[in-house]
Amino acid sequence: MRDQTLCVLRQPVPHDGYASLAVPTHRASTIVFADAQSYAERGKRGPDGYTYGLHGTPTTRALEAALTGLHRGVRTALVPSGQAATAVVFQTVLMPGDTVLVPDTAYPPTKGLCANFLEPRGIRYRIYDPLAGAGIAEQMDPSVKLVWTESPGSTTMDIQDIPAIVRVAHEHGALVGCDNTWATPLHFKPLDHGVDFAMEALTKYVGGHSDLLMGSITVRDLPLHRRLKDTMRMLGYGVSPDEVALALRGLETMGVRLAHASRVALDLAERIADHVPPELVLHPALPSFPGHDLWKRDFAGSSGVFSLVIPQAAEATLPDLLTATKAFSIGASWGGTHSLLAPMNVAKDRHLGPAPHGGTILRISIGVEDPADLWADLEPIVEAVAAAAVRRSDAA
Ligand SMILES: *Cc1c(COP(=O)(O)O)cnc(C)c1O
Repeated sequence: MRDQTLCVLRQPVPHDGYASLAVPTHRASTIVFADAQSYAERGKRGPDGYTYGLHGTPTTRALEAALTGLHRGVRTALVPSGQAATAVVFQTVLMPGDTVLVPDTAYPPTKGLCANFLEPRGIRYRIYDPLAGAGIAEQMDPSVKLVWTESPGSTTMDIQDIPAIVRVAHEHGALVGCDNTWATPLHFKPLDHGVDFAMEALTKYVGGHSDLLMGSITVRDLPLHRRLKDTMRMLGYGVSPDEVALALRGLETMGVRLAHASRVALDLAERIADHVPPELVLHPALPSFPGHDLWKRDFAGSSGVFSLVIPQAAEATLPDLLTATKAFSIGASWGGTHSLLAPMNVAKDRHLGPAPHGGTILRISIGVEDPADLWADLEPIVEAVAAAAVRRSDAA
């Protein structure tokens, strides 16, 4: 062998006696085959086999298997973002002429996918009341092939009666998907409640450090997984093993991060509710929250994200109060180690009547900072909300 060839060919190294707790990062586009015949027959390896880097390496399989185990499913598919996970489910299930039902409290880009991508291609959608429960029967017709759920709902945290929705949807021959990003499989297992697609933005609690984007879809039906993988192969969707390695690292600490964030978030929510009318604090674990009983029935815990309604009289002061915070950052996304505040204009994303809480709602995501520093940031905001709420009740 000449030097140029020696630069390319790898020399065998011993693996005997080597063991590590880390999951190796297996990068690949090309998968190499032992002989021409196994290359010719590579299609027979199926969605679990290795044929091309886009469709998975042992690193991606490790994360898929971990999520499958947590959800008590049969397989998981990984895609480049949470939004892509929703899109792959919709594109797999829905054909022109079909209808998908989407709750009014869905993550806004989910509605955007329906309005701006699916509808121009002949796939219809209808927005339903997230609190409909078994009443979703009124929305069913033979064209409905998928019912989407998200619980708690974006920003207003409405809890859906998922078992009741699943029952009705299945009676009518429709599949059910659930955006489970808030709860993670640690606090809610959609497949255990009959859901067909457990979708998550791994970007949030699994990644856990605000530095990666990824989504997952876990199913308990092997043919459904094959269909998802077919869609992904046609669209060319895959994930980078380097990012999967980060997600695997994040997953190891997710339990302790989530336990911490959920405890601190609930402490802060209770503290805020001592100062302002409790109905302004939107946190499912507060007994004053309208969906509390359903949440208690179905969920094993809460996470670090909740919301505070900003009365109109406090809206003008909010931007300066947000800018003045020191421990919190201002930004979208959540589920990382840094606590975040995001003022949301929910009214513009709601289709069914006026939004119940009016204008601005402040979304609060708790990270791992000292709670005393978080309270120091929140206190002036809470005082402004309390003062505005007093003025509002004077006026009433
Ligand atoms: C963030 C988020 C998504 C989208 O995830 P990306 O990875 O940012 O695309 C979907 N659903 C919910 C509930 C989210 O919070």
